[in-house]
Amino acid sequence: MTKILVSGASIAGPTAAYWLHRHGFEVTVVEQAPALRAGGSAVDFRGEQLEILRKMGVLADVEARSTRMGDVTIVDGDGRYQARVPSAVMSGEVEIPRGDLSRVLYEHTKNKVEYVFGDRITALTEHAGGVDVTFAKGAPRTFDLVVGADGAHSGVRSLVFGPERDFATHLGYYAAYFTVPNHLRLDHAGQLYAEPGLGAMVTSAVDRDTLGAMLVFASEPLSYDRRDTEQHKRILAEKFRTAGWQLPILLDGLAKTDTLFFDSLSQVRLDKWSKGRVVLVGDAAWSAGPGGGGTGLAMVGAYVLAGELATNSGHDQAFAAYERIIRPSAKMGQNQAKRAGGFFAPDSARGIRGRSRVYRVLNLKPLNGLLTWLVNRTADSIELPDYTRAA
Ligand SMILES: Cc1cc2nc3c(=O)[nH]c(=O)nc-3n(C[C@H](O)[C@H](O)[C@H](O)COP(=O)(O)OP(=O)(O)OC[C@H]3O[C@@H](n4cnc5c(N)ncnc54)[C@H](O)[C@@H]3O)c2cc1C
Repeated sequence: MTKILVSGASIAGPTAAYWLHRHGFEVTVVEQAPALRAGGSAVDFRGEQLEILRKMGVLADVEARSTRMGDVTIVDGDGRYQARVPSAVMSGEVEIPRGDLSRVLYEHTKNKVEYVFGDRITALTEHAGGVDVTFAKGAPRTFDLVVGADGAHSGVRSLVFGPERDFATHLGYYAAYFTVPNHLRLDHAGQLYAEPGLGAMVTSAVDRDTLGAMLVFASEPLSYDRRDTEQHKRILAEKFRTAGWQLPILLDGLAKTDTLFFDSLSQVRLDKWSKGRVVLVGDAAWSAGPGGGGTGLAMVGAYVLAGELATNSGHDQAFAAYERIIRPSAKMGQNQAKRAGGFFAPDSARGIRGRSRVYRVLNLKPLNGLLTWLVNRTADSIELPDYTRAA
């Protein structure tokens, strides 16, 4: 039986594991975190991307944990209403906290494939018969194929394709997500505030005691340790030090939170997503950043990759077909996500006023269809191939 190693157990990894197993491959997933990682903002599905949840039989589980988020209100420094961003824009048709989705996908696969937590690949040596893999902790093993589903800072990509700086493009912003107590008493609703180069959004949905806070700021690339959460907190506190609205309270919550996710808004671009017996999927291959439909596309990509491996006679053809099918949507997602930083943190007072004006116009009834089309474009750009016979 063909043995496949998947690196990363967040979204793309467990999805790839599910479909590879369905197609009769023997799958091992290695995740560097000691346990499944919780946290992160909510992620949404819309249009054609809902089909992947249906096909996997997890739509009901996802709907059961859906945020059912309402609209987000754009406010000024005194909390006064400026405009409304409809839930269809921010939250799609179904929205679920990222950690909950990862848990659903893990539960769906944990008895079908082997999961190894707290370890990572340290070397990959390819030969005619497979790939010899060494791990930081476990004993060396040999696999037929290796899938890098280990995110924007992929270890597999670094080992096989080269250092991250060769593929990552900084979009000029950083984003943070964390949770704080719901002092605003928001209920299935959100608020969005900006000052030039700074943006903050708060939402509350499933857990009404908790606010999800997202902070975005414009910045040149910063040098910091990706694992040092206290350093991330200091960077954020400094950037938002003089900001108004609810920022003093949010920064107070930031100092105490243990749920912080902090990263640059960057995009990953590679000319080719595979090399020999190693292939990348999800953020490892095409990370777009928020607003690019990245979670749905990571799942669709994993589905297509597994389907093409099942229906092609060799991995070379399968990898090429997978890339041919997914690349146009990945590119579209990246184009769409380029605007996310500027949406959350417009660069001037004029830009902030302009954002409210745009949403006041887009919310006029005759333009509702245009708005939905704009935000669903990437999700609708791909129709899932049918691999039922292979499965
Ligand atoms: C904890 C967490 C919080 C997040 N929060 C947000 C957020 O608030 N906003 C947002 O836009 N996106 C967030 N993301 C990213 C988001 O999940 C992805 O953009 C998207 O869902 C695509 O998923 P992916 O599986 O391709 O990559 P990711 O979700 O990034 O998952 C990659 C997985 O690989 C693991 N990994 C990394 N390196 C190695 C290695 N060398 N060996 C083994 N495993 C490795 C990681 O621990 C992680 O579990 C978050 C990701 C994580 C892991």
